[in-house]
Amino acid sequence: MTRRYIVQFDSAKLPRIDTDFLVIGSGSAGLRAAIEANQHGDVLLITKDVMRGSNTYYPQGEMAVVMSEDDTIAFHVEDTLKAGEGLCNGTAVEVMVEEGAQRVSEMIQWEANFDKEGETILANHLKQQERVRVIEYAFAVDFMTHGNRCYGVVACIDGVLHCIFAKATIVASGGLGHIYQCTSNPAVATGDGFAAAWRAGCEVMDIEFVQFHPTTLFLMEAPHLLISEAMRREGGILISSRGERFMAKYHEMEELAPCDVISRAILNEMELTGTPCVYLDMTYLSPDLIRRRFSKIYQFCHRFGIDITTDVIPVRSGAHFMMGGVRTNLNAETNLRGLYACGEVACTGVHGANWISNNPLLESIVFGARAGGAAVEYARAIQADSYANLRISSDDDAAPPQTVSRNIEIQAAKESIQEMMWHHAGLFRLGEGLEAISDELRALNPNCYWHSTEAFEFQNMRDLAALITEAAILRTESRGTHYREDFPERDDVKWKKHIVLRRGEAAKIVA
Ligand SMILES: Cc1cc2nc3c(=O)[nH]c(=O)nc-3n(C[C@H](O)[C@H](O)[C@H](O)COP(=O)(O)OP(=O)(O)OC[C@H]3O[C@@H](n4cnc5c(N)ncnc54)[C@H](O)[C@@H]3O)c2cc1C
Repeated sequence: MTRRYIVQFDSAKLPRIDTDFLVIGSGSAGLRAAIEANQHGDVLLITKDVMRGSNTYYPQGEMAVVMSEDDTIAFHVEDTLKAGEGLCNGTAVEVMVEEGAQRVSEMIQWEANFDKEGETILANHLKQQERVRVIEYAFAVDFMTHGNRCYGVVACIDGVLHCIFAKATIVASGGLGHIYQCTSNPAVATGDGFAAAWRAGCEVMDIEFVQFHPTTLFLMEAPHLLISEAMRREGGILISSRGERFMAKYHEMEELAPCDVISRAILNEMELTGTPCVYLDMTYLSPDLIRRRFSKIYQFCHRFGIDITTDVIPVRSGAHFMMGGVRTNLNAETNLRGLYACGEVACTGVHGANWISNNPLLESIVFGARAGGAAVEYARAIQADSYANLRISSDDDAAPPQTVSRNIEIQAAKESIQEMMWHHAGLFRLGEGLEAISDELRALNPNCYWHSTEAFEFQNMRDLAALITEAAILRTESRGTHYREDFPERDDVKWKKHIVLRRGEAAKIVA
């Protein structure tokens, strides 16, 4: 069985920090949870990079929220349920849509010029609060647990391990794009929270559903910027390296087909033409319109020598968003007492098998606030001195790994995970390929402790890749973003169900 902790520690021997509420992650979910919890106690927010290093700061779209009379809650709920292909939790969707307007309204009150800068408003608002401490470059490695309760995390701060004890812990560590070769996500998205929560005994649900964005910029020397779907809505067309428009072959809606259909079509065209990308052509639209409407993308591409008013844009699909995650109830509670999850790392059931592209930010603020509120309720009954003498150690693990160095090149091992996942657990999946990488991932399970951020990330990527693969093997159908070439049809009779994974237990299939 995979080890319980990937870090060797003894809380009696490490520097100790105590707080009422520990929040992991400075994206929209973590910020919103911290604001809520801060009204009732000391908050420590840790983040593995700088405050702005999160998916939250990348969106070029917007938040989907019912604010005007033209919109109705029912439409938004219906669209979300349709996208989720039978696997959404209807109540969670209603909660998100109904409370969304209230969450956005309060942000407008906090800062009058609310536009698309929601994350900045949250960060500014949090900074104004007392009793909040933020530590950047603090890497949460493993949750400390005793019995069925979470007491905080072992974190690596400036290269030194610390035990952070908290009455309640909220994980809001975002996504996992970097377990795939190509992604729209920033470098921090290595799936740490999913893997650490699973090692700690949390249930993980719907983890086979990974959303791939069809168009990320493909330039060797540039970051994989997201080329927004709004460009296709505006009339942008996709062409292969042979200059042929191809989407009509795959879907009647052509460039406006669902994201997963376009992503698979792009990959197919790349294989047919033997090239590493396709192209988005905006050149026949008005240059003024392009410069005005897509100014950020225009400027970014310009820096790398592409004028999108006259040149086609090289694009390919990239891992973008995780629909599943740490299973929570409507109050963001996990199955471990004292541990709450919100944002992309959580599985509230809002997305099901696929998403609506502007729901994630809304979900993160609605359930971020709920996580903060539930953590406060829980912490009220907890006395810090009730666990002041509690000693937690990695040696509590039944079979701790040996502290020996092993000759494994971590960067190469990370790349091999990314490659395996891209080819076998990405847009197209096949039983045989999944089984093969499952064995290879198992073989990458180190029997030693490493103490470096890179090594922690590698082990998280490995654990998470193994979970995605396990669920993808089990789901013998195609639904939402999960496409099995050997089971191309949706099978509602057998599979209108969720796969729930928990360390040390057989997978559960639940309605
Ligand atoms: C390019 C792009 C465009 C998008 N566009 C939209 C859009 O238009 N509309 C929409 O609704 N959604 C969009 N999304 C999705 C949305 O941005 C995310 O789902 C959402 O921001 C997730 O918020 P979060 O707070 O859960 O995670 P994040 O914003 O990713 O924050 C996670 C935080 O956790 C920290 N962290 C991670 N691991 C650790 C660790 N081990 N220790 C300590 N800290 C850690 C990170 O440093 C980061 O601060 C987009 C995503 C991307 C990548």
